[in-house]
Amino acid sequence: MRYRANLRALLPALLLLTGAAPSPPAFDLVALGVNGGVEEPTSAYHIKAHGASSGVMCDVGTLAAGIEQARRRGRYPNAASREEVMTSISAYLITHAHLDHVAGLVLASPNDTKKDIMALAPVNQALADHYFNWSVWPNMGDRGASPRLAQYHYRDLEAGLPTPIPGTAMTVTAYPLSHAGSPSTAFLLRSGQDALLCLGDTGPDAVEGATRLNELWRAVAPMAREGRLRGILIEASYPDPVPDARLYGHLTPSWLGKELQALRGMVGDDARMKALPILVTHIKPSGTSRSSRAAVRRQLQDLGFFNFIILEQGGEYAL
Ligand SMILES: [Zn+2]
Repeated sequence: MRYRANLRALLPALLLLTGAAPSPPAFDLVALGVNGGVEEPTSAYHIKAHGASSGVMCDVGTLAAGIEQARRRGRYPNAASREEVMTSISAYLITHAHLDHVAGLVLASPNDTKKDIMALAPVNQALADHYFNWSVWPNMGDRGASPRLAQYHYRDLEAGLPTPIPGTAMTVTAYPLSHAGSPSTAFLLRSGQDALLCLGDTGPDAVEGATRLNELWRAVAPMAREGRLRGILIEASYPDPVPDARLYGHLTPSWLGKELQALRGMVGDDARMKALPILVTHIKPSGTSRSSRAAVRRQLQDLGFFNFIILEQGGEYAL
């Protein structure tokens, strides 16, 4: 008893020594698909405010199959069925319209419920023109080829403008990215004071001849400095070395490291930057072996400093 009482008396002093009380998680994430192509399931991240019953998907490379895999790993213990999990998703955030980011949305659509698809205008237009067009799939949207079944309502996001996500207490802000010259998107999700950043495919600014990542880092650096940014989901598609001309709008560990160093400079607080979870996604399994993930992991470790976490298929993360 005495020991316990003494510990309680010591707690404020211990907190002073460690700098701050550990803050409770702000977001829950289940990785439904972590691959960047060749092998399924591909990019799909189910994100909720911590403890909330409804959430969003950041990209939908897989949906039904990804949920089944996650359920086999013990995720969604309170959901009676895959459909129940799908119903709990309030909206789809689509970074870009490449197949490895939307295939699950298209395939699951006949069994889905009414939802908003939230994306930058060119991405929504590509979905309406090239998928939900009655040529490759029935038009489940409310735009494009008639008849429009209107299960999905396209909502064009204005870059840089926080927009409430229906059915949740979160907002989303879209930032354009450059993916081999074609449009891609980073989504900043906000829940109360906290934020989580989910990037679609992107090349490094220096290779893309763009400033998109630099602008994004500038936008989120203040939140990272204040400890309100809870994580960054970002790709590392191939292990090094890859000639710049063969990146095709992607990052390698060395390029990811360079981009994060730019953010580190803007944050100006190494302790905060070191603690920030960098959630690495979209590794492309190589055609001849399974060694890509191991190589990316090793190369990220060699970079040092940053808190890299390679997302695992069906993994659950409290951030
Ligand atoms: Zn991709």
